[in-house]
Amino acid sequence: MTDALPAASPAALPEVLYSRLLEDALDAVIIIDEQCRICYINGAMQALSGYASGELLGQTLNGLLPDAVAAQHDDMVMAYIRSSRTSSVLGKIREFAIRHRNAQMIPIEMKALDLGMVDGMRYFGAFLLDVRVRRELAAKNASLLAQLEQQALCDALTSLPNRRAYEAQAEQAMARAARGGGLLAVGVADLDHFKKINDRHGHAVGDAVLRTVARVLREAGRVTDVCARLGGEEFGLLFPDASLEQACKVAERIRAAVAAAPTPLPDGTALHVTMSIGVAMLGPGMTLDAAMSDADRALYQAKHQGRDQVAAAG
Ligand code: GH3
Ligand code: MG
Ligand code: MG
Repeated sequence: MTDALPAASPAALPEVLYSRLLEDALDAVIIIDEQCRICYINGAMQALSGYASGELLGQTLNGLLPDAVAAQHDDMVMAYIRSSRTSSVLGKIREFAIRHRNAQMIPIEMKALDLGMVDGMRYFGAFLLDVRVRRELAAKNASLLAQLEQQALCDALTSLPNRRAYEAQAEQAMARAARGGGLLAVGVADLDHFKKINDRHGHAVGDAVLRTVARVLREAGRVTDVCARLGGEEFGLLFPDASLEQACKVAERIRAAVAAAPTPLPDGTALHVTMSIGVAMLGPGMTLDAAMSDADRALYQAKHQGRDQVAAAG
């Protein structure tokens, strides 16, 4: 049987261990007295503030505080001591900033404590953590997330909304129409003989044509209309607050603008393409799929009748 080692009693630990723990802590540590004079700063606080220990000891804390906080800090400490009321800072984690020796404000997270009375003097202590890296990371993550959300809804080749974005916008338009009793029309647009463009001029020219068409679609509709790339050389249109006749008029304007838009070729000439469009109503109680099928049938009719035209369902 082995003899158990006697448990180390915290009370028996030499004091020097506590001061080394504070001195070498990665968090900045500061102790002030009730007149807000700095009594102690550790190595991390010197690094964080840019001051050597000797420059701060005996100085008031206010030089390190943001102006708005410094103006009230002494009074807040005095009021706290006099009334013993609960503090909004002590015992809580607070975010604010301290002024570096070079005047730069450094965002920090602070945990402040009432250290109580020692020899007739009240003391307060605080741990300060530099949160610059964390803030930068959070800002970077937020911007990456926004970028990813944008990419998830955007077609990479044309920068138009993609099919997923089209369906989401259609749902919103359907909900608005249902609430307000407004009309809603949809369209399916498809480039004519696009395979020939690729075969004759190559895929890169085909891509350039798709970008030209996307620019025209963005510019030619009304502000409330939605144009999206559903895939390949097929585009989805939404016409909020439009009757079938009104939607066909806008679709006709889009068709004409596409036909008139040149795509420059490497040899200096320009290429023109045409587009056929089918339009249908998305009436109350209908699904998007049903309205798109109606528009698809109208598109087929437009192709069948000779392409480069708009056809209405019905
Ligand atoms: P129609 O008038 O009947 O619509 O004939 P079409 O040739 O346009 O129809 P089809 O569906 O046969 O061909 C579509 C072509 O679109 C085939 C495909 O190579 C091309 N395509 C689809 N996506 C892209 C793309 O991202 N870039 C390029 N360059 N071509 C694409
Ligand atoms: Mg086509
Ligand atoms: Mg097609």
